[in-house]
Amino acid sequence: MEVSSQAVLGRFFKLALIVAGIGAVHILTLLMSWYTVISDTMSTTPIQGYIITESLFMSIAGGIVCGIALLLSSTSSNIMTAKWLVGATALVGALLAIASPAYAHFVVIPALQVKGHLEIGMFMSYLSAIAMFVPAVTIITTPIRIEVLPHTVPPSLETSVPAVEEAVELLHATDVPPGAICGICYQELDPETTVMCSNCQTLFHKGCIDIWVKLNGICPSCKKPVIR
Ligand SMILES: [Zn+2]
Ligand SMILES: [Zn+2]
Repeated sequence: MEVSSQAVLGRFFKLALIVAGIGAVHILTLLMSWYTVISDTMSTTPIQGYIITESLFMSIAGGIVCGIALLLSSTSSNIMTAKWLVGATALVGALLAIASPAYAHFVVIPALQVKGHLEIGMFMSYLSAIAMFVPAVTIITTPIRIEVLPHTVPPSLETSVPAVEEAVELLHATDVPPGAICGICYQELDPETTVMCSNCQTLFHKGCIDIWVKLNGICPSCKKPVIR
């Protein structure tokens, strides 16, 4: 199904909103007890997340970076920029978030050389950080199947071209330059499965253009009707 770029941007915004929301929850886990120290007299001392300076900074930085991802997603108008900028920013936020409890767990607490046990706060911190990866990775792995701007057609020809004699063909592309990308999904082309529009010479994956032509009947780049 064809998805408009507005819809994709809207989806990225929602995902960024989820990352930022979980990021806020993640920061709040700093207030919870992360570890309980049990001393010889059997008295216990809770250690909250925010007491560990490095974790405090990493968690807050992670939350802020996710907030920036949300901001970027609301200001981006280009879907490819949005995908990589918002996705990468959200991923950095999630990495900072997971580094925070991991650092406390594996570096700070062993260095204390005390007896004790992990508390719910640390698990919540881990859990929220892991949850941040899901929308972040979803943004990065969202396939973009939206047409590129047409570049060869004069505006006067763009509309009403039903004439059969103007129809174009899809030819098997024999000469695919290395690194060339598909005009529909922007992924790299494989010479085996690459076809070319006989009119505008745009290259596509066979699978991509077949679906496209079935739905739209025209070349996504030059808009001419395609003979099947
Ligand atoms: Zn493709
Ligand atoms: Zn074409």
